[in-house]
Amino acid sequence: MTIRMRIIIAAIIQAAIICVISIFGYLSFNTILSKLRTIEIIDDLNISLLEIRKSEKNYFLYSDVNALKEVVGRGKEIDKVVQSSKKEILKGLGPKTYNVLGTNLSKYLELAQKVISTGKTPPHFGEEFRTLGHELTRLSEVLLKRERTDVNNRIQNSIFMLIISLSAVFLFQLVVWQYFFHFIIKELAIMGNLIQMASQGKLHEVAKQTISPKNELDDAIKALADMARELEKREAVLLQSEKLASLGILISGVAHELGNPLNNISLMAQGYLSLYDILGDGEKKNFMADILTQTDRISRIINNLLDFSRQKKQELIEIEPGNLIEKSITLVSNQLKITNVKLHKYIEPDLRPIYVDAPQIEQVLVNLFINAIQAMPEGGDLTVNVGQEVENGYLIIKVKDTGLGISKEDLLHIFDPFFTTKGTKGTGLGLSVSYGIIRQHHGDIAVESEEGKGTTFTLKIPIYQPKEKEEDAQADRSH
Ligand code: ADP
Repeated sequence: MTIRMRIIIAAIIQAAIICVISIFGYLSFNTILSKLRTIEIIDDLNISLLEIRKSEKNYFLYSDVNALKEVVGRGKEIDKVVQSSKKEILKGLGPKTYNVLGTNLSKYLELAQKVISTGKTPPHFGEEFRTLGHELTRLSEVLLKRERTDVNNRIQNSIFMLIISLSAVFLFQLVVWQYFFHFIIKELAIMGNLIQMASQGKLHEVAKQTISPKNELDDAIKALADMARELEKREAVLLQSEKLASLGILISGVAHELGNPLNNISLMAQGYLSLYDILGDGEKKNFMADILTQTDRISRIINNLLDFSRQKKQELIEIEPGNLIEKSITLVSNQLKITNVKLHKYIEPDLRPIYVDAPQIEQVLVNLFINAIQAMPEGGDLTVNVGQEVENGYLIIKVKDTGLGISKEDLLHIFDPFFTTKGTKGTGLGLSVSYGIIRQHHGDIAVESEEGKGTTFTLKIPIYQPKEKEEDAQADRSH
């Protein structure tokens, strides 16, 4: 069910509860009002009956017929009230008692009327008249008391019911909001998790989510999974085209690099053959020496390619990072001298040793230094920062220059073999070989660059672990 639907249902239930409470409140308020009206009538009745009893008393004290006339006059008025308020009195007394009240009143008035019209008092008149009068006041008092108690009870019940109903509404609200809170938080947590996975590049995990949407949040989760699937597809296409571009650079690079010396060899061999008879020994040697130079170039290229494809065997040794850095800097000290580049070096003290193929790591560092120097033809600052992340077990080397920087487009290709922006002056193998070496050391190489501002290469090399050394030594022995 959609969240919208759930909210509507909850609102309808709540509105229904409030309606029931309001109807109940209205009804009980109305009943109390009518009861209060009844009490008012009965109270008046009671007062009139007390007045009659007063006149009755006067009659017996002074034998004054006028007092009896007053009794009859007031009695008739009471009779009228009893008739007109029959409904209310019936409710309070019930039909039986109502009839008794009516009969008693009629008898009482009849007796009084008889005495007035005959001027004589029948035997037992006093006793009978007083009993009837007493019974009438007793009935009206009972009625008044009963109605008052009834109204009190009703008011108390209404207050109680009101408290109960308001508590029920409050509880219902609490349960409903708890439910929505729990439900929405749960779905949001799933969504948050997926977004986090997506931001970490785990698109495949996100794309795996197969959810049949039941509500708006499920829709969003499904959209997220769909988006991840689409991104995954596009990423694959992009990767493929990047791979093809890299392969293109590699093939054209190999063809170009090997083509030149092979062409030279071919030209020299042709010249050697055609001029063989007229060439002197020295010239023949020169031809051969030139051919050897070209083959040397070919084998250098092949060696570099082997480095890149990690075919060359590593010779690992334990070494202090400081020494390694100093030695690499010495190797480029001449270039630093002849250019306007200033070196800044920050090496943390007490660095833990690393277990690496030292000449390979030197090669990487020299490569980075040379690239940095070449990127600052007008001079600049070359900063080398060396520290360690002991908790992660890495030595961190940062090589920063204030040179030309690298464009966003070139950044995608600088680690590709034969990619160079230096024309014939560059081989385009320095970074690709360095990348291969660092990966083979289970390390990482990253680059940050801004055109016109400079470039920073960050190397991460695992810190030396004696256990690893042992394992590697064992592996070496078993080879
Ligand atoms: P090469 O230096 O022979 O061109 P690399 O593989 O060492 O080959 O470098 C590839 C390319 O990366 C360079 O041609 C250059 O465009 C870019 N590059 C590398 N280092 C830097 C740097 N520090 N500043 C600017 N560009 C750089």
